[in-house]
Amino acid sequence: MEGRANQGLSVKDDGYHKTAPERLKRVRDEIVTAAEAAKRSPADVELIAVSKTFDIDAVRPVLAAGQRVFGENRVQEAERKWPVLKSGFADIELHLIGPLQSNKAKDAVALFDVLHTIDREKIARAIANEISRQQRALRLFVQVNTGEEPQKAGVMPREAKAFVEFCQGELKLPIVGLMCIPPVDEEPAVHFAFLAKLAKEAGLQGLSMGMSSDFETAIAFGATHVRVGSAIFGER
Ligand SMILES: *Cc1c(COP(=O)(O)O)cnc(C)c1O
Repeated sequence: MEGRANQGLSVKDDGYHKTAPERLKRVRDEIVTAAEAAKRSPADVELIAVSKTFDIDAVRPVLAAGQRVFGENRVQEAERKWPVLKSGFADIELHLIGPLQSNKAKDAVALFDVLHTIDREKIARAIANEISRQQRALRLFVQVNTGEEPQKAGVMPREAKAFVEFCQGELKLPIVGLMCIPPVDEEPAVHFAFLAKLAKEAGLQGLSMGMSSDFETAIAFGATHVRVGSAIFGER
C-alpha cells in the first residue's frame, strides 16, 4: 500500500506519513489550508474518505482516527464491508460515488446516506421509488459529464439544469448538488469552475469535486465535498 501512485500523482510518499491515520491527518490539514487560502470555512468542506478496494482491516484505523464519512464506488463491495464496520459506530455516513444500476437501487438506498451519481431518468425514478418505499432520508448529487466524454457517466452540461428540475419537481428527490470527474488529461480547474457555474444556474449549493491529486484546487473553486482515496489509504 506504500509507494508511488499510479500516474505518480496520488500518494505523496514523503517517507514520514506512513500510516493511514497519519495520511488522514495530513489531508485534513491540507483541506484547512486550502479552505483558508480561498477565504472559506474549513467546516464547509466535507472529506469523504474513499475506501474502495480496501478491506475492513484497512478501514478500521481510519475509523479509529475519527473519520466517519466514507465513499465506496460499488454497492456489492460496500455491502460486504460496511454492515460489519457500521455495527461499531452509530454515526458513519456512507457515500456512493460510483455508477448506479437500477437493479441495485434498493440495496443502494438501504445502505448509503448520499448518492453522487444520479445521471438519468431511469435511475432517478428507481431511487425515488426506493426512497419512498424504505422511508429513508438520503441526499443526492447529479453527476455531470463536464468533459462530454463518450465513455463517462453523467448528464451533459447543457441538460444539467433541466434534469435537476425534473428530479426535484416531478420526483421530489432531495438533490443537494452536482458532481463531476474531470477528464484525466485536462486541467481539472476548468472543470471545477464549470461545475460551480452549472450548480449556481441550477440553484444548488453542493459541489462534489476533487480527488487525491486535485482536492486543493477543487476547494479553491468551491468544492463542498472532496472524495479522497489513495492519499489516505495508499495506492490501489
Ligand atoms: C476512486 C474515486 C475517487 C478517489 O480517487 P483517489 O485518486 O484515490 O483519491 C474519487 N471519486 C471517484 C468517483 C472515484 O471513483
